[in-house]
Amino acid sequence: MTDESLDTDAAFSLLADETRVRILEELGSATASPETGIPRLSYADLKSRVGIRDSGRFNYHLTKLVGNYVAKEDEGYRLRWPGLVLYRTLVAGHLTDEAGSAVDRFAVGTDCHRCGDSIEAYRYETLFRVRCFSCEATYTDVYVPSHGLVDRDRTAILEAVHRRTRTILDSMTSGQCPWCAREVSPEIHEGDGSLPSLHDTRDLEPYVVYHCTDCTGFQYVPVSGVLLYHPATVAFYYDHGLDLTEIPAWELPWAVTDDATTVLETDPWRFRVRIDLADESFVAHLDEDLEVVDAAREPRIDE
Ligand SMILES: [Zn+2]
Ligand SMILES: [Zn+2]
Repeated sequence: MTDESLDTDAAFSLLADETRVRILEELGSATASPETGIPRLSYADLKSRVGIRDSGRFNYHLTKLVGNYVAKEDEGYRLRWPGLVLYRTLVAGHLTDEAGSAVDRFAVGTDCHRCGDSIEAYRYETLFRVRCFSCEATYTDVYVPSHGLVDRDRTAILEAVHRRTRTILDSMTSGQCPWCAREVSPEIHEGDGSLPSLHDTRDLEPYVVYHCTDCTGFQYVPVSGVLLYHPATVAFYYDHGLDLTEIPAWELPWAVTDDATTVLETDPWRFRVRIDLADESFVAHLDEDLEVVDAAREPRIDE
């Protein structure tokens, strides 16, 4: 892997200059909002947008970027894929998010499924959390780029947090790391009274971990949480006039607690999850890979 690490070093070192970052930013904004329909800038345009008079200095830095980050074509300069990724990273705020906008604590409008007090949302450093401050049950803990939070009201912020969580977990539960695209598989952990997060005191027995050991991608959910992304559950809600994909997990006790889950066997694992809606129950059986091996609907019987 020596060659690859040399390439990575070179790719990083190419960015160690303010002028080069400015060039990438100008090409990026030209690509995002092209004036001509073609996301390229002529040499003169690019130079004037970057605002450098010294042609020698500008040429020196531009030449460094041509190749990996920037393509030079007859019609002008455009970003190559690594340059686009970098521009998107800058816009999202990934590299500068520690200083991102603060969001004051506010109630999300749902009561805690454990103690009944109000669940609140807030931003902690780069993480957005939805949790109960009375019993410290945490229902959502996710990284949302600060770009998605600025100048938004609380409803829109919660929508962004919900959608972000869903995107990440939809990918994880389908077997792919959302960050690096490597294959991930569910690991079932026996609940022993503590969860991977110190900020979450839910009693989940057991729970599921998705962990990408290549890039550090990590999420954990109750066993039943996996069903948020299963077509049979989505169809169950749809048939009751509801779009499950629009409902934040923290509003669904069956998805964020283990109350709806019964452990049928432990070796190998077998689970039954029961979800009640109106006069009907959706009952799913899951195996040790958390595949749904059986799904049925039956009249609801309240215990
Ligand atoms: Zn609580
Ligand atoms: Zn990964």
